[in-house]
Amino acid sequence: MIVRIDLGVVEFELRDLTTALVDKGLEDAVREAHRQAAVAALAQVEAARIGSRTCPECGETLTVAKTSKRTIGLLCGPVRVPVRTWGCGCGHTVRPLAGVLPKGRHSLALVERGLFLATMIGYQRSAETLSHLTAGEISHGTLQRLAKAEAARIDAPIAETTRELYVNGVQPDELAARDRSDTLVVAVHGGFVPDRATGYDFEAKCGVVYGLKAEVSKGRVELVDRVAYAGIETAEVFGQRMSAMAMEQGMLSAGRTILIGDGAGWIRRMAKDLFPDAVYVLDLYHLKHRIRQVFP
Ligand SMILES: [Zn+2]
Repeated sequence: MIVRIDLGVVEFELRDLTTALVDKGLEDAVREAHRQAAVAALAQVEAARIGSRTCPECGETLTVAKTSKRTIGLLCGPVRVPVRTWGCGCGHTVRPLAGVLPKGRHSLALVERGLFLATMIGYQRSAETLSHLTAGEISHGTLQRLAKAEAARIDAPIAETTRELYVNGVQPDELAARDRSDTLVVAVHGGFVPDRATGYDFEAKCGVVYGLKAEVSKGRVELVDRVAYAGIETAEVFGQRMSAMAMEQGMLSAGRTILIGDGAGWIRRMAKDLFPDAVYVLDLYHLKHRIRQVFP
């Protein structure tokens, strides 16, 4: 459907004649217009969904039975949206906006930006930065909850590939084509992160898989394939997932695989048990550190 909104006149006071204040004044005024337009646009969506106001059950005319208001967090800030329930004498009721408004309290556009920030900075800083840059309001606790919900979705494909490999013995499809002249590098590391909830540290493990080259289409060779994975899980689960990922990245057809680690026991065991054909290499930083320990 086409939504047509007349934004009307945008008016703002210019306290000083500077470009910065023109820029900021316009942004604030357009944000206010955005809030009003959002309510008007949703009213148009509601009208389109209710159509001819004919009851699909009995053919009589639907009328507004109830209007409630919902606050939805948008990029322009929170807006109060009237949500109407339409009813008919036969008992049929319908709420046309039910399938349009988000299940939570924020639009997906706002949630996506918040989660984008949360991949780089903490939840608190993400919430602050988001409201600073967009006027959208979303609490750090909500961002954390949304990130946890998202984690399961991100996790599902690799969890399934790993289960197929280790439970059913089904080898993952190779997503990158390699040949015997290729080298695949698997680098893994673990780091302790303080847990605010318990006061104890937990270990986050992360890994990167990359090839020196891969054929992305016939005759076209590029370094396209750097895939990263991180998890807070046992070394066994992490190792199995990393090996499934390495197979997806062409470990079985590459000429050799190099596994880089910092010398931690779990990484050495992972190399031995799950990457038996890989060459285990102590990373340069930790190699130098070890040498300094031995020859102070
Ligand atoms: Zn009816």
